[in-house]
Amino acid sequence: MGLFKLKGFPGTGNFRHGIHPPDNKHLSNESKVEVMETPETVTLPLLQHLGVPCKQIVEARQLVSYGEMIGKGEAFVSASLHAPIAGIIKKNVMVTLPNGRHLPAISIQASGDQIAPQRLWDEMRSKEWPRDCISIYDPFTIVKLIHSSGVVGLGGAAFPTHVKVTPNDTRMIDTLMINGCECEPYLTCDYRLMIEAPRAIVAGALLTARAVSAREIVICVEDNKPEAVKKLKEATEQTVIKIAVLKTKYPQGSEKQLIKSVIGLEIPLGGLPSDVGVAMSNVGTMATVARGLIKESPLTHRVISVSGRGIKHPKNLFVPIGISIADVIDFCGGLTPDAARVVAGGPMMGFSFSDFNTPVTKGTSGITVLTHDEIKSEEETSCIRCGRCVDACPMNLVPTRLALAARYNNPSIASQYHIHACFECGCCSYVCPAKINLVQLIRAGKKLATASQKF
Ligand code: SF4
Ligand code: SF4
Repeated sequence: MGLFKLKGFPGTGNFRHGIHPPDNKHLSNESKVEVMETPETVTLPLLQHLGVPCKQIVEARQLVSYGEMIGKGEAFVSASLHAPIAGIIKKNVMVTLPNGRHLPAISIQASGDQIAPQRLWDEMRSKEWPRDCISIYDPFTIVKLIHSSGVVGLGGAAFPTHVKVTPNDTRMIDTLMINGCECEPYLTCDYRLMIEAPRAIVAGALLTARAVSAREIVICVEDNKPEAVKKLKEATEQTVIKIAVLKTKYPQGSEKQLIKSVIGLEIPLGGLPSDVGVAMSNVGTMATVARGLIKESPLTHRVISVSGRGIKHPKNLFVPIGISIADVIDFCGGLTPDAARVVAGGPMMGFSFSDFNTPVTKGTSGITVLTHDEIKSEEETSCIRCGRCVDACPMNLVPTRLALAARYNNPSIASQYHIHACFECGCCSYVCPAKINLVQLIRAGKKLATASQKF
């Protein structure tokens, strides 16, 4: 595990296995967040979170104002949708998201008075976020307001936040961990948020800790982000919040690895952070919680990174949910002549896509554009049984077995080797000298194993 030491926490600041890919964050980490103006249209899929789709509550040709609820999350594991722009509801459309899901969506044509997006961003990065008024919110009210604001995890998973923070008599939460690791290469949206809006993150963390009755609050950041650590230390002065500075390693930001690094506890196979007394949320989610409660402003905008050598001007942007990726790419000067692959998210866990009309959703943390040089020499050869994929897997799985089970349609072997414990980090594919796309095979194997469990 090397010489790295984490002071003041039971964990070591590190976890077993994992990899060290080039982080390429220098392409965009110095770019201050820029605000995109209101687009002509936005398209909002009814399912942009984990769980049940929300129910459309507006009709075609209806006028909506900024922030109005347009889709209601009626099931417990669902999230409501709010209009990011004022406008007229167009007829329903279908969209295909980068992960291949084909979904009904609400489209809004901009019309009428718009809220200035710059005002929303200025509010977020203000130094005036209160800490002393937190105690006026009781835990029940905090959960209710998080629910009605449509907040989901902004780190990529898009799990509805109110579900995570609803009190549960059988699982007591001791520690709230705020994830600011952002270990995916290229992505810098969380980094910029920690530098530019640390006080909103702190206000959201204090509110969320109150909802779950956590004794400890820890913001976790990797040691390649010293400027973010400095800003967070200043913003958390005279609060109970601690900062854990962790070893830079992929995938340090995944829940299980982060809990092991900081608290030293292992989540049992198939278990949740709450099984070891932890609630975890991302820094962007915390800033959104603060806006939802203190400014009564629902989740309508987010910060994303647009980076990679295939984009002319890498940037960090504050954008309305539902803006098309084509608009975002245009704002960054377009693609370079050698752009070869556009990925929603980062290159390790993201999804390649080619339909640029697809919208930014609540869970879109960034767009990464890779060049021909970066994706060349991907021709697959035979497995040489080197074991590198096993050595890299942070979940101690045997990726080569899982991939074989998927390739030969054998769901029972896949389940026997715990295919559902794989969280698709991509470490195995990254290290494989035979260029076998193990994670893609495992993804298909998981679908196969799930389908076989239904019969
Ligand atoms: S098997 Fe899954 S969890 Fe393990 S390295 Fe591969 S993608 Fe990551
Ligand atoms: S890393 Fe690739 S070549 Fe090596 S054992 Fe795993 S699948 Fe085979």
